[in-house]
Amino acid sequence: MNTAFILEAAMAINQAIIDSEAEIESLDREIGDGDHFINMKRGCATIVAMHDELATHSPDIALNKIGMKLLSTIGGASGPLFASFFMAMAKTLKEQNDESILSIATAFEAGVQAIANRGKAGLGEKTMLDVLIPVANQFKASANKTSKEIADNLQQVALDSVLATKDMIATKGRAAGLGERAIGHIDPGAKSCQVMICTVCNLVATA
Ligand code: ADP
Ligand code: MG
Repeated sequence: MNTAFILEAAMAINQAIIDSEAEIESLDREIGDGDHFINMKRGCATIVAMHDELATHSPDIALNKIGMKLLSTIGGASGPLFASFFMAMAKTLKEQNDESILSIATAFEAGVQAIANRGKAGLGEKTMLDVLIPVANQFKASANKTSKEIADNLQQVALDSVLATKDMIATKGRAAGLGERAIGHIDPGAKSCQVMICTVCNLVATA
């Protein structure tokens, strides 16, 4: 993974989030407070605006800069969570010090673990982690496959996982106060993560 790919992914994610406005917005209106799309849009715009600054840095430094910037620009619960993802991913990438797929998968897993630590949440709580944890596990498990196979696998896991949040009761985040009323609604953060993961996988699969 080089910095040019990170920048290309950031631009594609920015567009994909904008294209998903109606769905993400309505999900957070149903079981949250309606600001998740705005938070995501602001975060993406912030990263896209850092393009020229990031382009001169190695991937780990670029990811760390993204994390630090997001901490001060996205609000809500999701801002600090995504910030910890990028900072932990940067740290692990630096420690791995190679460009293998396994290193990227290990760094992704560390990012997801940082979200779980920061949000004190795990699987089955109807949050973004219900997409991120299964994707991280599959990524680690399939690191010896071709990029195209990995991208196809991860898209499928992300799609299955986001749908599975529909039947869950939330035990973390704003939706936790809704009890059984949250059943029947997909979690907005899980949806954003599925959109972002599928976008990056598409880039890899069509490269
Ligand atoms: P807020 O909930 O403060 O309005 P957002 O609307 O931007 O923030 O983000 C909501 C999303 O954040 C939820 O859909 C859920 O996926 C995620 N989330 C909330 N709390 C947690 C947590 N403790 N751990 C992991 N993810 C969480
Ligand atoms: Mg919200």
